[in-house]
Amino acid sequence: MAYTVPKLTDYSAAALDRASAELLAALEQDVRKLLFDSGKRSSSHEAAWKLRWEEWKSFRDKWISRKSGVLTQINDVWLKGSPKEAKRPAGQLVNDLRKRVEEEVARAEASLTRSEEEDQRASPGQSFASMDDALRTLEGVDITLPGARRPIGAEHPVMRTMHEIVGVFQRLGYSVAEGPVVETDYYNFEALNFPPDHPARDTQDTLFIAGQQSKPQRERLLLRTHTSPVQIRTMEKMRPPLRIVIPGTVHRNDPPDASHSPMFHQIEGLAVDTNITFGDLKGTLDHAMKALFGSSVKTHFRPSFFPFTEPSAEVFVSCFLCGGSGKRGADPCRPCKQSGWIEVLGCGMVDPNVFEFVKDNGYDPKKVSGFAFGMGVDRLALLKYGVDDLQYFFQGDVRFLQQFG
Ligand SMILES: [Zn+2]
Repeated sequence: MAYTVPKLTDYSAAALDRASAELLAALEQDVRKLLFDSGKRSSSHEAAWKLRWEEWKSFRDKWISRKSGVLTQINDVWLKGSPKEAKRPAGQLVNDLRKRVEEEVARAEASLTRSEEEDQRASPGQSFASMDDALRTLEGVDITLPGARRPIGAEHPVMRTMHEIVGVFQRLGYSVAEGPVVETDYYNFEALNFPPDHPARDTQDTLFIAGQQSKPQRERLLLRTHTSPVQIRTMEKMRPPLRIVIPGTVHRNDPPDASHSPMFHQIEGLAVDTNITFGDLKGTLDHAMKALFGSSVKTHFRPSFFPFTEPSAEVFVSCFLCGGSGKRGADPCRPCKQSGWIEVLGCGMVDPNVFEFVKDNGYDPKKVSGFAFGMGVDRLALLKYGVDDLQYFFQGDVRFLQQFG
């Protein structure tokens, strides 16, 4: 069926998509016809090629001839004929289609040229068998056609942020440790100094595995609410000194919204040695924040509480979006709530009570000290890429993800 460029009255995104899809379908049909169907109708090779090249020329003229090709027509009818407010989407569409059509025409030409050359090479003194082969190439599937192009994937923005953070600590000599997502009450809470019935457990809305009531509490299974259980698991296996980062997924009973998700990502760090001080903690985190957000950011520590560290602190960085001024031009800076500071992580010196649980493996709290820190990767990715809804990260919408390719 012959394709004619339709007049557009509706310039909505849906209508433009439809018009674009129709045009591309017609183009695909023409390419198929040109590459697979032509050249059959003549018995002699030469005549077959002549016919093919004529078909090629009319195909090329139909699509890209300057005078009346489809590209010229859509430029005249769709773009020049569009109302003022639709110029932008129409221009974008015409540009995209131009690129696509020119690519297809160039590809078709390359493919025709290649099969002609191969055909001629096979010609002189050819056997009947090779003649057969040449004809099969002409008539059936042309194996010299370029294959279907597979787009190269890209790292998901959350994974990319995670790898960046892990990379910063790896360059400081930290190694990566991992552990199970389905965890026991003991590792998730008890060994991290959350005693049974302690109110600190309430701050982590936990998803429990069903049917565990017959077991003693410390053996009951749950989805880990933080990556911290891997601290204990690693200290049970490795003697000090120890420097690890722990990336992973964690779960909490939070309904999904713009800033919450029942599944999210954390990176936790732990350093244990003799004579580790709060100064080491500050120096390490200050370096890491500068490596992540730029050398001009400042860090700021405020006292806080976590059951497994004492003393504990929250770390803020000066807002890397507004430079700490709280304003972006004339507008208020929303990500830092105009304060000029963004909270990025929690940290502290490992509570001696935690070392008591792994004392037998060389972690005598009288001899060793250490610090730990943990951060939410998704939130940092939101800030870094200026995304305003956490759910975009997990919905798998290709239109969103393509922007990071
Ligand atoms: Zn700001």
